[in-house]
Amino acid sequence: MHILVINSGSSSLKYQLIDMADDRVMALGVIERIGEEMGSITQKSNPDKWPDAKSVEHRVIPNHKAAMGLMVDKLIGEDWGVIDSLTDIDAVGHRVVQGGESFSAPVLVDADVVETIRDNIPLAPLHAANLAGIEVALELFPNTPNVTVFDTEFHQTMPPKAYLYPVPMDLYTDLKIRKYGFHGTSHKYVTREAAAFLGKPVGETDLITAHLGNGCSMAAVKRGRCVDTTMGLTPLAGLMMGTRSGDVDPALFPFIAQHRKMSVVEVDTLLNKQSGLLGICGLNDMRDVHAARKRGDEQAQLAFEMFAYRVKARIGAYLAVLGRADAVVFTAGIGENDDAVRAAACEGLEGLGIKLSPERNTTREPGVRRISTDDSPVAVLVVPTNEEMEIAHATQALVEA
Ligand code: AMP
Repeated sequence: MHILVINSGSSSLKYQLIDMADDRVMALGVIERIGEEMGSITQKSNPDKWPDAKSVEHRVIPNHKAAMGLMVDKLIGEDWGVIDSLTDIDAVGHRVVQGGESFSAPVLVDADVVETIRDNIPLAPLHAANLAGIEVALELFPNTPNVTVFDTEFHQTMPPKAYLYPVPMDLYTDLKIRKYGFHGTSHKYVTREAAAFLGKPVGETDLITAHLGNGCSMAAVKRGRCVDTTMGLTPLAGLMMGTRSGDVDPALFPFIAQHRKMSVVEVDTLLNKQSGLLGICGLNDMRDVHAARKRGDEQAQLAFEMFAYRVKARIGAYLAVLGRADAVVFTAGIGENDDAVRAAACEGLEGLGIKLSPERNTTREPGVRRISTDDSPVAVLVVPTNEEMEIAHATQALVEA
């Protein structure tokens, strides 16, 4: 079975074609700057075989329909093609950011599903772009099963005491204001991988998972099910991120609006796009932050310390929520690669049963690995995430069922 995984954003479209026989990525690509003056498509075919070979083309890509047409041309084209025709694609799996309370599992797309996804647009503006991708795919692949996998799915098991905000109850009943959480596909994937590595059934495994990438979130996982997470109604909540503030006193909103004479939308943009690492030191990529730290940049040092401090505080909070944990799991760009952040986040947690091995932490190895000492009561693991593979497997399971 060949499954095409699509992640449709407002101005970009990422895709992967996966051969489910051996989980092999046949092709992966990204189409960028859709709707802008000049766009581009970058595709790697058989990336395992030729990791450095890629095709890059620049052209005007007016909308998502054009983008997907371009993707199809590339996938079946002579030079970089990996399939003969569209019928070689057996199913399409779509990443959808916001499933609201309507979806706690992947679903086969039909007209009702499209309408329910549309109903959830007010909860997440990016959602409209996800829906655009689905609608174009339904046109392009009318006879192929299309499946949606939601970022919020994994977090739907949170109890009300965790997902409700202490605000007037009608804000929940009328407007659906609550904590939804995001990155669920990643938290779910690393939960399963970590349990397998520890040799325990997922349903008996307690974890604290930390997805630290451009966006950052953590989850408390009790017996394989999410019981709390850091992101909220939107991905702005929780940890400090590349450009997002994470949790701040909500009174900052009126305060900044009043003193800077900004609209609500402008303050929202400030907290989403000009805050986090960027707000503190002017750099939003953790690699650049480290380079600046090495040059003695004090603001970069502060940004790094603030970032790690917030992860550490949440590890402590989630240990309290869970009562015990088999492991703390680090994943995504920073979580998988950044030993300095991991060391700072775990520093001083020996009293809570978390003992990092400095040697294991700094040794780079592919795949899942333990970076805690053998006698650490709580293991610390690095688990590479793979959201596309999780979506492909969920799609396959649903189509086969
Ligand atoms: P992601 O959103 O998972 O792709 O993660 C992207 C972020 O991971 C980048 O913005 C970097 O800050 C960070 N990152 C990627 N590679 C490294 C690395 N080798 N060391 C530190 N941070 C990294």
